[in-house]
Amino acid sequence: MKITNPATGATLVELVADNAKTVRAKYERARAAQPKWAATPVRKRLAILRKFRELAVERQPELARTLTQEVGKPIRQSRNELNGLTGRIDFFLAETERALRDEKVFADPQGKMEERIGHEPLGVIANISAWNYPYFVGGNVFVPALAAGNAVLYKPSEFATLTGMHIADLLHTAGVPDDVFIAVIGDGKTGTALLRQPVDGVFFTGSYGTGAKIAASTGRRMIKTQLELGGKDPIYVCDDVDVKAAAAAVADGAFYNTGQSCCSVERVYVHDRIYDAFVTAFVAEVKGFKLGDPMNEATYIGAITRKPQLAVLQKHVADAKKKGARLLLGGNIVKGTGNWFAPTVLSDVDHSMLVMRDESFGPIIGLQSVADDDAAIDLMNDTDYGLTAGVYSADEKRAKSILKRVNAGTVYWNCCDRVSPRLPWSGVKHSGIGLTLSTYGIQTFTRPKAWHLRSS
Ligand code: NAD
Repeated sequence: MKITNPATGATLVELVADNAKTVRAKYERARAAQPKWAATPVRKRLAILRKFRELAVERQPELARTLTQEVGKPIRQSRNELNGLTGRIDFFLAETERALRDEKVFADPQGKMEERIGHEPLGVIANISAWNYPYFVGGNVFVPALAAGNAVLYKPSEFATLTGMHIADLLHTAGVPDDVFIAVIGDGKTGTALLRQPVDGVFFTGSYGTGAKIAASTGRRMIKTQLELGGKDPIYVCDDVDVKAAAAAVADGAFYNTGQSCCSVERVYVHDRIYDAFVTAFVAEVKGFKLGDPMNEATYIGAITRKPQLAVLQKHVADAKKKGARLLLGGNIVKGTGNWFAPTVLSDVDHSMLVMRDESFGPIIGLQSVADDDAAIDLMNDTDYGLTAGVYSADEKRAKSILKRVNAGTVYWNCCDRVSPRLPWSGVKHSGIGLTLSTYGIQTFTRPKAWHLRSS
């Protein structure tokens, strides 16, 4: 398989993908190695993961360069992702022991009967990952999964293969046994072969389409299946905000990572009292975003990682224009080598348009005016997805009462496109099922065992 730089179209390297036979062999190695890893004291496992963190910091320049070369992410944003990874590992290092400790939940006054909850590792898990934040979405799974005593078969996206191989190398150098964390290399076909193995859990990050196929294939096997899927994340800007500041923050939320984040802002509703001023400030902000060589420190908009996405973006723009939207900025493929799309702002959009319904996953945004808070809430909830949603307002009470009525796994007041290791990351509807991060995101890699203990 060819690994290509999406910014230049150049082939970086050619690799041999795993096939059904090699995937099976990897599964068998992981199965054989897992009990010993589970029996390793949790403190020792955490010490190894601490070493992994140190290595990721030491080798940051090289890791950031590889990430930028294979996914087209601006180099500063690659470094930000690696810095974010260390913050997440710190959270897992601090919280794992407490999260995995046995809990005594009952003891009778005579001391004869006791009830406890234990947390046991699932066993061998498959982690099938996405390319847009490979250190984040991968790390949210393999760090706590390993900490909890599981063996991990990690399939990076075919668009982030080199990063996946770096991750395996760092973990092994840190001391995770070679058979406890194994990279499985390839595309969806390899992913399918991985899912045919009798794993004990599947942790997937990717699109709704693939997630639905995976759910269908694991459903009859009664194994834990977590699906972190796409979003069509809305922001509502109330009429009481500092318009310029809100426009700057929302534009960053929409265009950071070239709009290729699961929690990118994908729809913006603006109170009609400030709509015109907001649109003007928003367009001015986006005009300041520099598109170009992702290795350049000043670049903010990088390449579109997957070529076929260019056609999706073109379709969203053409459909919106046909149905009456105004194209204020961009709207076109940028000619040249590699995959590039100009930062695009559409105003006067509505929910008949693809750009307000389907995940765009690129540097494109629709701005819609709304008459009041109720109308904004109706529109925010008028979606198949439910990953994140946000409100910008000077009034905390107003924002909270709106966010209570919004159906999403994560809600934001005066911020957006933000993930915290301390909070659970989950979606509703087509945004998925299950969660990562927070202490729940440690326990999710275990199964609770109920202990009923009578001493005589
Ligand atoms: P994708 O669904 O195309 O691929 C994801 C992974 O699944 C890849 O590793 C791919 O090789 C594998 N795969 C493809 N077909 C498969 C099959 N039939 N069986 C098993 N594995 C298969 O998604 P992507 O393009 O890598 O990622 C983008 C999507 O991920 C967007 O929708 C984005 O919103 C979503 N995402 C969600 C989160 C979240 O936390 N909710 C985070 C990042 C990305």
